[in-house]
Amino acid sequence: MSSTRHDQAETAWDVVVVGAGPAGAATAATLAKFGQHVLLVEERVSDHFKLGESLPPSSVDLVRHFLGNPEGPEQNLQGVFRTAGNISLWATEQPDVTDFFFTLNGFGLCVERLAFDEALRSNAVAAGATLFKGVRFESCTRIADGIFNWRLALASETQRQEHRARYLVDCSGRRTVVARSLGVRTAPNDDRLFAYAQWFSCFGNDDDRYTRIEAAPHGWWYCNRLPGIEGNEIKRLVVFHSDKDLPAARVAAHRQGFDQLLDDSTHIAPLLKTKDYRPCGKIRGAPANSQRLRNFCGNAWMAVGDAAQAYDPLSSQGIDKALRTGSHAGHMIHYALTDCPRGTAAGLGTDNAYIHLYDEQQRQLWQTYLLQRDFYYRMQHRWSDQPFWQRRQRSSPPSDSLALQQMS
Ligand SMILES: Cc1cc2nc3c(=O)[nH]c(=O)nc-3n(C[C@H](O)[C@H](O)[C@H](O)COP(=O)(O)OP(=O)(O)OC[C@H]3O[C@@H](n4cnc5c(N)ncnc54)[C@H](O)[C@@H]3O)c2cc1C
Repeated sequence: MSSTRHDQAETAWDVVVVGAGPAGAATAATLAKFGQHVLLVEERVSDHFKLGESLPPSSVDLVRHFLGNPEGPEQNLQGVFRTAGNISLWATEQPDVTDFFFTLNGFGLCVERLAFDEALRSNAVAAGATLFKGVRFESCTRIADGIFNWRLALASETQRQEHRARYLVDCSGRRTVVARSLGVRTAPNDDRLFAYAQWFSCFGNDDDRYTRIEAAPHGWWYCNRLPGIEGNEIKRLVVFHSDKDLPAARVAAHRQGFDQLLDDSTHIAPLLKTKDYRPCGKIRGAPANSQRLRNFCGNAWMAVGDAAQAYDPLSSQGIDKALRTGSHAGHMIHYALTDCPRGTAAGLGTDNAYIHLYDEQQRQLWQTYLLQRDFYYRMQHRWSDQPFWQRRQRSSPPSDSLALQQMS
């Protein structure tokens, strides 16, 4: 177990945040800045890989809020790289170019998640949160022990520990470990989207900073140049998305099949060939379906980030949502705890005005997200005889024509 600012004897906390991805780090930093005594628990000591991901220009201020000034992101922020825009082949074969130059910030960001997540965790610790790395949340039990509402079982490789907390936050991502231990399930899934990621490397010159998105008969592609150069080696990430139960998904899981599908792409394969990119490392798979908890909060607990609701990567909103709702959650929990200094678990449930506000925000976000997702998929008619697209035509039409503008 590694820990930062950790007094081994300390086992009583205002808030315990489980999971130190972007949502957990943002929630913990916000609470710690208010003076709350926060423990942030992360089971992984280090990740060997994470996908490189994009943020739209509207997220730049949010990154600035948590990590400082990205005026020169390459100089100031490790793992962050400016992007110039999106080129998508979606509704037609004609490329649709969204140039970020014409936005308020003038650029978007591509983040290398290992460094980005580490920077966010350091920010939470600098704000006063205690971070336990290599420590896994195992279970929680409700108690009424003075002001404490929870007894938590945490475990590292070498020891088990018991902690108490007034409030518990589930930031464990799609695994929703806290909610599951409380018996709160995810709502039934309406899609089985799965992502297959392959890294490519080259030793030439590649300063193309446009993200490529391309619809295909059995799914869609995403391709981005990644931040950083190792020696002379430049890397790109190429991701194919399809439904896990479709034959194309089985094909994409293996190098030969992945390459065959990629060869049929209109823009991405030629781009890789021109720059002499070669595949490197294994193909990695990850669930990418839309998912939400049946309840976003309950008595003295809430879920934030992907644990509350996880989006289709087409939205490019996952990190933005994790940081934004992490900040909102931190404020609402602080106000609720301050209002009920000796608050029982019931006083910190959805009847509490602040927790209720958070719950409402989550419900609205989910509705807006569904409208946007369905609108975007329904624009694509080129393969309406293929199951991947047929499934996405069936969803109910959105009532809001703003959907596409917000998605792009
Ligand atoms: C293929 C794909 C592509 C994507 N592309 C983009 C993109 O381009 N742009 C974008 O904005 N978003 C993208 N996303 C979404 C983005 O990755 C997520 O929305 C984001 O990581 C959510 O952050 P989080 O903190 O909620 O969860 P996570 O990042 O999943 O963090 C959860 C943390 O909890 C920890 N944890 C889990 N269980 C326990 C436990 N028992 N005890 C302690 N710790 C635990 C985990 O180790 C992890 O560190 C993509 C997602 C996928 C699948």
